[in-house]
Amino acid sequence: MRSLCILGSTGSIGVSTLDVVRRFPGKFRVRSLTAGRNVEKLAKQTREFKPDRIAVAEPDKVKDLRALLDGWTGDVLAGEDALCELAAEQESDYVVSAIVGAAGLMPTLAALEKGKLVGIANKEPLVMCGPLMQAAAEKAGATILPIDSEHSAVFQSARAGEKSELRKVVLTCSGGPFRQASADTMANATRREALSHPTWSMGAKITIDSATLMNKALEIVEAHFLFGVPYDGIHVWVHPQSIVHALVEFKDGSVVAQLGLPDMRLPIQYALTYPERWDGGLPVLPLERMANLVFEEPDRGRFPSLDFAYRAGQRGGTAPAVMNAANEVAVSAFLEDKIRFTRIFDLVGEALSKHAVKAMDSLETVLEADAWAREEVRKSCQ
Ligand code: NAD
Ligand code: MG
Repeated sequence: MRSLCILGSTGSIGVSTLDVVRRFPGKFRVRSLTAGRNVEKLAKQTREFKPDRIAVAEPDKVKDLRALLDGWTGDVLAGEDALCELAAEQESDYVVSAIVGAAGLMPTLAALEKGKLVGIANKEPLVMCGPLMQAAAEKAGATILPIDSEHSAVFQSARAGEKSELRKVVLTCSGGPFRQASADTMANATRREALSHPTWSMGAKITIDSATLMNKALEIVEAHFLFGVPYDGIHVWVHPQSIVHALVEFKDGSVVAQLGLPDMRLPIQYALTYPERWDGGLPVLPLERMANLVFEEPDRGRFPSLDFAYRAGQRGGTAPAVMNAANEVAVSAFLEDKIRFTRIFDLVGEALSKHAVKAMDSLETVLEADAWAREEVRKSCQ
């Protein structure tokens, strides 16, 4: 039985993970759950799944949390160190990394350093410092399993050949709510419009990232670090139906793809049951849904995000961390109505242009670059 620590259990991925767990009674034990500040949801999950320990990132929320626990008597912890403690403790062998943004870096790293199986949905830390995370995993014998749907699709498809036979990776992308919008509509897009994703239901930050295609930019870097494919071998196609999640091309010319409904429970389940496949009764893709699949080239003029990823990725070192940090702050500013939608592009582009890239020699260097980019963008948003 796998004993789970779910980091970010109250988010969209966290809730879907618990839904998968519910489908396999006796197969998983929930050892620990963590949340940022949503104590109502964390308390509800605690009452249902009865973990031994829970943690909330914001210490001032502990009192409210305790009041909601209804006779449950496990440990309640608080703060980032507590999240790291739960991710690293011996009693859990599988950690689901589902916090949003750079906040997930330290707990995910803590799990990797203890040699655990780590299912990673939280792509931002991988973009910031994928090589450091890989090195930590290798040193401790940890296994990284991708949960992001495109990366799960690459991972599954790539099993049809050897790593050395893989030539090209194609990540698909729904195109988001502004796939066919004019540049003017995009410039004046409201929060509500940007948050209306056509196919996936997700947390707010990744939904905005999907509208700017910054999500795909992050995923290009994520794919490079996870699969070791050079940047010129990673391509993006817009595929509005979100049925084909990724395709891989082998050196003999064969193309293998993974298909499924836009439902994160499938890639989550695969990461949890890997290397096996179990029947969790998830909805299956009806063949009729494949009658009109469309693939288009992304519009790199309206969506400069993809170029940011290639530029930052090829530059290497701290550049991807700066792209990520600038984007995180710009997205928050947009969600707080401080900036226009398309200003996100300017802010990420400016941070990348101004940044003096350093080699990724340590975590400190990455965190410094991350802090520098956040401050730069914050200043520009005032
Ligand atoms: P979400 O906003 O719905 O949930 C985020 C979780 O992180 C919540 O549990 C929240 O309490 C917690 N959290 C937020 N800030 C925190 C902090 N400072 N410290 C500790 N915990 C904190 O986000 P989501 O949509 O579930 O996405 C989570 C991650 O998975 C993101 O990196 C996203 O890019 C990735 N991802 C999501 C989807 C999806 O369908 N939602 C798909 C692929 C990848
Ligand atoms: Mg994805």
